[in-house]
Amino acid sequence: MILETEIKFLAGIGHRRAEILKKELNISTFKDMLYTFPFRYTDRTKFYKVNEITEGLPYIQFKGKIVRIENIETPHNNRLIAYAADNSGEIQLVFFKGIKWIKSKLNSNTEYVFFGKPNVFKGQINIIHPEIETVNDENNQINSNIQAVYSCTETLKNNFLGTKAFNRFQSVLLTLVYSKITETLPEYIISRYKLIALQDALLNIHFPQSPEMLKKAQFRLKFEELFYIQLSLLRQRLNRMQKNRGFIFSKIGDNFNHFYKNNLPFELTNAQKRVIKEIRRDFATGKQMNRLLQGDVGSGKTLVALICMLIAIDNGFQTCIMAPTEILANQHYQTINDFLKGIDISVKLLTGSTKKSERKIIDADLTSGKINILIGTHALIEDTVQFHNLGFVVIDEQHRFGVEQRAKLRNKNAVSPHVLVMTATPIPRTLAMTLYGDLDISTIDELPPGRKNVKTVHLFETKRLQLFGFMRRQITAGRQIYVVYPLIKESETMDYKNLEDGYFAITQAFPAPEYVTCVVHGKMKSNEKDFAMNYFASGKAQILVATSVIEVGVNIPNASVMVIESAERFGLSQLHQLRGRVGRGAEQSYCFLMSGVKLSNEARKRMQLMVKTNNGFEIAEEDLKLRGPGDIEGTQQSGLPFNLKIANLAQDGKLLEYVRNIAFDILNEDNSLDLKKNSLLRNFLEKNFKKQIDYSAIS
Ligand code: ADP
Ligand code: MG
Repeated sequence: MILETEIKFLAGIGHRRAEILKKELNISTFKDMLYTFPFRYTDRTKFYKVNEITEGLPYIQFKGKIVRIENIETPHNNRLIAYAADNSGEIQLVFFKGIKWIKSKLNSNTEYVFFGKPNVFKGQINIIHPEIETVNDENNQINSNIQAVYSCTETLKNNFLGTKAFNRFQSVLLTLVYSKITETLPEYIISRYKLIALQDALLNIHFPQSPEMLKKAQFRLKFEELFYIQLSLLRQRLNRMQKNRGFIFSKIGDNFNHFYKNNLPFELTNAQKRVIKEIRRDFATGKQMNRLLQGDVGSGKTLVALICMLIAIDNGFQTCIMAPTEILANQHYQTINDFLKGIDISVKLLTGSTKKSERKIIDADLTSGKINILIGTHALIEDTVQFHNLGFVVIDEQHRFGVEQRAKLRNKNAVSPHVLVMTATPIPRTLAMTLYGDLDISTIDELPPGRKNVKTVHLFETKRLQLFGFMRRQITAGRQIYVVYPLIKESETMDYKNLEDGYFAITQAFPAPEYVTCVVHGKMKSNEKDFAMNYFASGKAQILVATSVIEVGVNIPNASVMVIESAERFGLSQLHQLRGRVGRGAEQSYCFLMSGVKLSNEARKRMQLMVKTNNGFEIAEEDLKLRGPGDIEGTQQSGLPFNLKIANLAQDGKLLEYVRNIAFDILNEDNSLDLKKNSLLRNFLEKNFKKQIDYSAIS
């Protein structure tokens, strides 16, 4: 296969540059090169008129003069707006950097060629940091082609491996291999979904013959990329369903009924009812359930889990809940015991700090089947923990656990127990379909009634005295307050210093005995942590100074103020999680995002978004747009299983759903892809998705 040829054999590359290509872009073969796509295109086939410029165009060029310049200075955001005009209208050019230089360079009487990508800001079209050249003979020409631009690093540039070189390589390469590119999708899919041939797509992605052909090429390649991922995931899911027998919980028994009648303190939300129904349906199929439950902080996932555990217990099985921290395991233990008052169910807690003697009893009662619900941390997955008949496993805040840990828990029985993994970090739909494409997903999209939105305010650190005044009034009104400091591993020493300084400042401003402040951080022993948490939870302390260890799950309804220090250092989902610690009681709650005055653009966007919305799903979608899929919490740990070359999960959601449905229909008709027309699909999967981690083992 010519496509497998080593890249050093391509004309103009050679041994040394091949090594650089390998190191910088992971290109080792002709095929790798062919599939290294441009990251943008420049359209120099025409000069746009200003009134033709709209959002969504590629990099475009237009000619005009500067008619006026505005310099906008605020304490934390300087920018220059230059208004460029031709005879059709006026457009804003925005500069954040190099303002002085740009100002000195621009002349009001000169005609320029401007060049950049149009954006929309507050309903106005603008171009940020356009390239500007005075009109000359060369740039006044138009090109016959749209030009591909490849991403480039310093090293590549220094070794003459920039865009121009790539244009040349791709041209040589395509001449060599064009006729040998074989189709990767069956003919019936290509014609049914009006795709262009792979050959044409690869040619046009590097050398677009027209904007229309470029669009078609992009569509074809994205289609194929997302389609095969979905086909592979759905096939795995199908395999799992066929293979994995599951326990059948058909009975609704005494525990469940008693709980529903006597112990349920409030009406379930419709979303909770719907999700419980979905889970009950799974319990009845005879297949092992693998379900992801996502619901915003405070949406009542614990109760859903508990009700489903009661069903398992009524059918004669044991259940367990695994939580990522001891604080959270303790809290589940208390909550569940409270919920189950007066019901004869044995609930036990097992964590790293369970005493040896106690542990022995638990081990014995587990194997005999006496314990109905076991709650704990990672301690649950140790080999010594043996159940009598584990039927249902709940994993809370699943993104905190690694894949193997979850698999271990699942394998505690000969027949795998049903698994429910819960997360309060909503995952954007597109990401969920890709990352958990072989799991079933339930969503609680509704909060219990009467919840007030948490009022969120972004404050610069200089406003601290005002904040302290507000905190005092809240404490006088009987409320409690969290003050949280970031803890990021690389700079741990500094972080602890921040925490210590902060603690000192708080105790100065809120002196004992009038005020009581306690502190919790990751370096404390777990009994110390518990002591401090309980002290705060019981209301004896009004202020809790903490690192983000309190991020997940902690539930103290009387706490109504969350102060997040150095908020710019937290990611969106973490900020949202932290904010979710307040707003759990009847009182109006507040979240203060404290930040330095100098903020990066992205940090400012995060603050603005937090102030604007309390909706975790909205935040997750924005997070995906701001940072890209690889950085979203929940994917950092395991990494994205797929390296997308052209599709973009933040932008191609519709296409993803489209191809998922197509993949679904194909498998519906031809389960194991045995039909002749699908043989290409099967071969492609076997060749390219073999090494794929088995993501159905995720739970
Ligand atoms: P999360 O989904 O973040 O884990 P929890 O399960 O901790 O949320 O629930 C948050 C709070 O809401 C708890 O105090 C819980 O008792 C309460 N709660 C759960 N369901 C309801 C409901 N249907 N109506 C009122 N309160 C509820
Ligand atoms: Mg929870």
